[in-house]
Amino acid sequence: MSHEVMEQAKPLRWPPVTDVSALSPVPAGARDAVLKFYFGPMDCGKSTLALQMNYNHARQGRRGLVLTKHDRSGGPKITSRIGLGMEAIEVEDGLDLVRLVTAHERVDYLICDEVCFYTVEQIEQLADLVDDHGVDVYAFGLASDFRSVMFPAAQRLFELADEVCRLQVEVLCWCGRPGLLNARVVGGVLARTGEQVVIGDTDASPVRYQVLCRRHHRSGQLGEGAPPAP
Ligand SMILES: [Zn+2]
Repeated sequence: MSHEVMEQAKPLRWPPVTDVSALSPVPAGARDAVLKFYFGPMDCGKSTLALQMNYNHARQGRRGLVLTKHDRSGGPKITSRIGLGMEAIEVEDGLDLVRLVTAHERVDYLICDEVCFYTVEQIEQLADLVDDHGVDVYAFGLASDFRSVMFPAAQRLFELADEVCRLQVEVLCWCGRPGLLNARVVGGVLARTGEQVVIGDTDASPVRYQVLCRRHHRSGQLGEGAPPAP
């Protein structure tokens, strides 16, 4: 298919809300691609929003790739806790994201779920894709690990992203306060040390994760109503 035909097939774009052409050195009609990072604790709806974002962009005739790593399904797909899901590309540590994208004929945007588990180098590659290839990148992930320490990839995103957005979809600590931090629970006790990435919440794993408010993450109180370890 020729490029012209694809251009014709694109739906009309709404005019920009504000006209900045007189103020900006950017030629009229041009728009810089964006790197956006949406973060929040587990269960706050990140994967659901990632899937919704992909749907919205695809419906506008834009072409995107959907990436994930260590999804809860254990497979190369994004699954959300409310039951949505779609196939995705699994981001292995050695995967060069610039090469991945440029190997495709046209990519307008990337949806990157579980981005906290990417390597820092891969975050740099996302920034390259935005700046050098005009690809919009929408990244979703945890900010901090079970110790409340920032994931290296999340830290780099805080440093580089055009926009950072905290998601708070009513995920609450057992006490009713907003759930901000992820606790790793091993044998019914909040863990303070260990590997940064341990897959839990599966039948085969003795590890589970629980979202707590800052107060109870720091005190280690898991609440009486906490579900028993599987
Ligand atoms: Zn609490």
